[in-house]
Amino acid sequence: MKHSIPKEIQKIADTLEGGGFEAYLVGGCLRDLLLKRKPKDWDIATNAIPEEIQKLFSTFAGATPDKPATVYENQFGTVGVKTESEDSTLKVIEVTTYRIEGKYTDKRHPDEIKFAKTIEEDLARRDFTVNAFAMNLSEKGEVIDLYDGQKDLKNKIIRTVGDPKKRFEEDALRLLRAVRFAAELGFSASVEGGSASRGKDRPASGWEIEKNTLQAIREQAGFIEMIAKERIRDEFIKLIMSDEAAKGIILLEDVGLLKFIIPELREGIGCGQNKHHIYTVFDHNVRALNYAAEKKYPIEIRLASLFHDIAKPKTKAGDGPDSTFYNHEIVGAKMTLKILDRLRFSKDIIEKVTHLVRCHLFYYNVGEVTEAGVRRFLSRVGPENVSDLIKVREADRIGSGVPKAVPYKIRHLLFMIDKVKHDPIHPKMLALRGDDVMKVLNIPAGPKIGQILSILLEEVLNDPKKNNREYLEFRAKEFNLFSEEDLIDQAKKARECKEEFESGVETEMKKKYYVR
Ligand code: ATP
Ligand code: MG
Repeated sequence: MKHSIPKEIQKIADTLEGGGFEAYLVGGCLRDLLLKRKPKDWDIATNAIPEEIQKLFSTFAGATPDKPATVYENQFGTVGVKTESEDSTLKVIEVTTYRIEGKYTDKRHPDEIKFAKTIEEDLARRDFTVNAFAMNLSEKGEVIDLYDGQKDLKNKIIRTVGDPKKRFEEDALRLLRAVRFAAELGFSASVEGGSASRGKDRPASGWEIEKNTLQAIREQAGFIEMIAKERIRDEFIKLIMSDEAAKGIILLEDVGLLKFIIPELREGIGCGQNKHHIYTVFDHNVRALNYAAEKKYPIEIRLASLFHDIAKPKTKAGDGPDSTFYNHEIVGAKMTLKILDRLRFSKDIIEKVTHLVRCHLFYYNVGEVTEAGVRRFLSRVGPENVSDLIKVREADRIGSGVPKAVPYKIRHLLFMIDKVKHDPIHPKMLALRGDDVMKVLNIPAGPKIGQILSILLEEVLNDPKKNNREYLEFRAKEFNLFSEEDLIDQAKKARECKEEFESGVETEMKKKYYVR
């Protein structure tokens, strides 16, 4: 049974074998091959030690001593071998020396890493049976499967290699990995919630976590607190990027892990909304994520969809059909920032997701919002974020379970945006720039420049015809005569004006929709 092995992989295996070593395909790529999915990356296990791997590949794929084909950066025996493939999944192949892991004392990493002699020893340290088989790359694709991983693969069962309690105690990240694999492979519970193990009425078509493994996760969920946030983040990203991301979140809650990873999401459990919603806040957030995952949207949109209403429980006033959630997008943006920062997400992702959550509540109704309003919207949201924000809005709408017919409104908004797209919406687009203001007024750099620009921008947002140098110079000179206090006050008002699009004149409408 030889599966379609890319030529780059075969070449690496042949090179290892030519040097007298073994080469096995292991981990996710073999699992994916057996499931007839396209592997995301490729892992080869070998009995060659890192130095031997580096030596063997010193002349591989056009490599020279100053342009080596290998990278060896960590202490775990993994050497990256660079190929000449155009396929991003094949550019660097991880070749890892067989390992056994020593004693674990802190639930997160072995006290020492020892290289092993045989593939059998290496497979014994792997976490789940469906991750613990190997395929020989020399003979006719012989599979070494000591833990019945292929059977579990067929029956769609996630089961630890050996005693689950011991395995989770060794490395508590495995708790989260079990849920991540359930989400990636296609967990069988429904988005409606439910239990993580297959019940009588549960379809047998999806994956499930084996009973003892599941029980151990429930009992030992708290161990995840011992794990470095970066490792949690990497698994969480894989969960969120899976097709069943929403079920993954439900499963995290079901097994008691959510409380240690994103406890804020739990505040929405059982938190009812108002007459415009049929779902609790938690269910709604999860459903919004589900839509974003169905659409295969990128991580920022998925996270913003999941977090967009995260502050509703905190901001809820009143109860029953008339409850309100004023400022939940502002509080929600702050909570989002805290969560993503805690999970060590990159600055770019944090900024983007926080901004999308902050802006998700924009109001648009055909005929009610003026061109000036649309310019303010663009100025606040940033033209580059509009399409992503609309995606989050769509996820919000579909995730509410009672989608109203708004696509026409969105099309109209896009039409209006197109209409005003050349109008100035940013201080940098003003006919008078910061440097000019300093020259014209003969004043040094300082907060005053920014204040004047804010007021000028507000005027131009209202009427783009005013964006000419002569008029702006004239106004700048006038503002220069304001007292410091007045100027600060005017600038603050101008900045707040940009928010008008989502409050101000529309307050009444928003009240009607119980959203602010
Ligand atoms: P993916 O397709 O998402 O890469 P994967 O199964 O390859 O899935 P990786 O995180 O890349 O997952 O790990 C590669 C292999 O290394 C796993 O299949 C498993 O055999 C082993 N492994 C990874 N992390 C652990 C761990 N924490 N404990 C035990 N084995 C692990
Ligand atoms: Mg992998």
